[in-house]
Amino acid sequence: MDEVLTLGIDIGSTTSKCVLLKNGAELVSSSLISAGTGTSGPQRALDAALKQADVPLEHLSAITATGYGRNSLDGADFIVSELSCHALGAAALMPGVRTVIDIGGQDAKVLRVGLSGKLESFLMNDKCAAGTGRFLEVMARILELDVSELAGMDEQAAGKVSISSTCTVFAESEVISQLAKNVDLHDLVAGIHASVAVRTAGLVRRLGLTEPVGMTGGVARNGGVVRALETELGVGIAVSPQSQLAGAWGAAVYGWNKEKE
Ligand code: ADP
Repeated sequence: MDEVLTLGIDIGSTTSKCVLLKNGAELVSSSLISAGTGTSGPQRALDAALKQADVPLEHLSAITATGYGRNSLDGADFIVSELSCHALGAAALMPGVRTVIDIGGQDAKVLRVGLSGKLESFLMNDKCAAGTGRFLEVMARILELDVSELAGMDEQAAGKVSISSTCTVFAESEVISQLAKNVDLHDLVAGIHASVAVRTAGLVRRLGLTEPVGMTGGVARNGGVVRALETELGVGIAVSPQSQLAGAWGAAVYGWNKEKE
């Protein structure tokens, strides 16, 4: 086998991501479209990754779909749970990682990963928006910021405004009343990040923490949440620049592993 191209597509709740790998390891192209399951996002992400690589669909050895909307894609060779794909992707992007914290648009998961990237155990919060990317989107909207601006605000915080509500709807009212009191915006953002960190750390402790720890999912792009989690857990957390692509990356690796069998 000289050049095997496998594509992984992660169809999330809010985004669609593709990773095209050569021989299961070398990144050929990737795409990220801000439209998830039930939209044109998955197809656009697929088209964008193929166009960027200048590769026709027929040259792919395997397409593996994962994520919340994984069953909705026509033409997938494999459909694999996002837990397995995130474990494989995290192991490829952050070799040696044993605990993976994955926070996406609508859920948060903590995975224990074996050295080969095999999922050993996990815990998930998919019942409540608090502690997920959705919570951060709601808060950013109230503060008239983009989610990508939250980390920069946190960096300049001198302290943090404590958010006591554990429910997104109540926390939203709490943040609005803090704004009315003219609290420092930077400290408020730091408090919002700390509240996500406290919830996530609870999940990590329930599963048990094995170092090294890494983070995947879109929220890993928010350095403020990563720092708050490091403080809360008392450990360093590795983040790959490709963190949001971890599920799609793992799906592409899965396809390659199947091709090798
Ligand atoms: P899903 O797979 O469920 O669609 P993702 O893993 O792509 O979710 O994560 C989406 C979340 O990532 C958003 O809710 C947002 O909080 C966060 N996010 C996305 N882009 C950025 C960014 N540039 N900076 C900070 N956070 C981001």
